[in-house]
Amino acid sequence: MSTNDKDPEQKTPLQLSRRSTLLGMALGATTLAASSLVRAAASDNSKTSQHKGAYDVIIIGAGMAGSTAARELGAQGKKCLVLEARNRLGGRTWTADIFGQQSEVGGQWVHWYQPHVWAELKRYGLEIDETPGANPTYGTVLINNELKNVDPADSFAMLDKGMKVFCGDLINAFPRPYDPNFDLSFLKHDDISIAQRLKQIDLDITTHTILESFFATAVSGSLETAGMLDQIHWYARADNDMGRLLRACTQYYIKSGTSSLINSMLDESKADVRKSMPVRKVEQNASGVTVTTQSGEVFKASACVVAMPMNCWNDIEWSPALLPGKVAASKERHVGAGFKLKIKVKGNKGAYQSLAGVGHPVNMVYTDHFYDDHTTLFCMGYPTPGFDYNNKDLVLKEVEKLLPDAEVLDTFAYDWNNDPYSKGSWCDYKVGMWSKYGADMRKTEGRIVFAGSDVADGWRGFIDGAIETGLRAGRVTSELLTSKA
Ligand SMILES: Cc1cc2nc3c(=O)[nH]c(=O)nc-3n(C[C@H](O)[C@H](O)[C@H](O)COP(=O)(O)OP(=O)(O)OC[C@H]3O[C@@H](n4cnc5c(N)ncnc54)[C@H](O)[C@@H]3O)c2cc1C
Repeated sequence: MSTNDKDPEQKTPLQLSRRSTLLGMALGATTLAASSLVRAAASDNSKTSQHKGAYDVIIIGAGMAGSTAARELGAQGKKCLVLEARNRLGGRTWTADIFGQQSEVGGQWVHWYQPHVWAELKRYGLEIDETPGANPTYGTVLINNELKNVDPADSFAMLDKGMKVFCGDLINAFPRPYDPNFDLSFLKHDDISIAQRLKQIDLDITTHTILESFFATAVSGSLETAGMLDQIHWYARADNDMGRLLRACTQYYIKSGTSSLINSMLDESKADVRKSMPVRKVEQNASGVTVTTQSGEVFKASACVVAMPMNCWNDIEWSPALLPGKVAASKERHVGAGFKLKIKVKGNKGAYQSLAGVGHPVNMVYTDHFYDDHTTLFCMGYPTPGFDYNNKDLVLKEVEKLLPDAEVLDTFAYDWNNDPYSKGSWCDYKVGMWSKYGADMRKTEGRIVFAGSDVADGWRGFIDGAIETGLRAGRVTSELLTSKA
């Protein structure tokens, strides 16, 4: 197993130290130890030298997609090598210790409405647990800088109504949401952003704000650049049922952590797994694929699965060059540039939810867990101009708007945008991206098959989508190996 102490991964966790709250409660400056994250990484499995001789397949990236592909190919007896850049497995999923509690720094919620991940939970006997904040008992909405009490049932009804108005005639644009290519006529609407669409419809201010809050959280980025189609597709994935969509996105998480799913898949794969091995170059010719790491190690195989985030494709030197659609998409990047802050406040706050629209960097706050003496909450949003989520004062100022009576004890966030191996959060397409690059992004190139949640057909941007593409990559690579044998 190779280790690399200089891995930037361990240098980027953003920790906002325990501090005095805006309400004036002075606290000592202690921070969540980065070592707890390192410990979590160190417990990941890493296996090498299980295979002698040449590999059948090299898989680049040990996130959900790459781990699924490795498992699928391993089950067929293929000799696989997984090369992972970071010194931990899981990619944009990461089970770590935050505030002394097992937590998910990245992808967290899964649901039986998401067929691929649900099948994996059943396969490995993994249980789910529930986030109390998914069913808030009280809530607020920030309207014109005034925090108003709104019963969660009423805010849900407004969101439900607003979403239907937003979709309008396009509500049936995805007759087969898990196979959007079945009817691509929706693409003629790919030139409209969420912000533009919101201007076209007439909603009262509270409904408008609630809808904005939902979209800003869902796309994890600017509504000016986010295409409206992706959100209509999200809705279609949940059979145009807002309750179902919210439950799919926020209710259940894997009790033993996303890492338990990654580890189960990689264990079953029998693959050699090398961490701290960022790939620098990928070359292919008629006889096979050669992969060179940044440290200069060279590996050869008959085929390769690239299971990296789309935002990172251009960091590799490809020979021959990638299709232009892949290059352009990677350069443009998906919309996802947001954050998932976790905060710990004093006292039992129960199941709370607070919403804010565009212009506020924190668009949604809701309870993670509540205890007798403290409550942990998620704060979701994206960096708007003038806001830096690395600046703890700015963060706490925004949090206070949505949680005015809270005494914040501790906060934690991780900077996925400046992490060189994700360069963003989750994938939502920018305006025009689907029509311009969608086809190229999914295409196999010679002996190289592309996987990853960013190129999923169904739950793109989700754990489920990553697994969907890992399954597809397993099948396509196996066919490719047979045809090129
Ligand atoms: C904050 C946050 C919250 C989220 N919440 C949810 C949620 O609640 N539910 C949900 O379903 N989804 C959620 N997601 C999205 C979900 O986590 C991702 O869509 C999914 O995990 C992506 O999996 P992947 O395998 O496609 O990509 P990744 O997990 O990004 O895996 C790609 C792997 O490639 C590696 N890599 C990159 N470059 C190189 C290189 N040069 N050489 C070798 N390896 C390389 C990376 O290190 C990484 O391990 C969230 C994501 C984030 C960031």
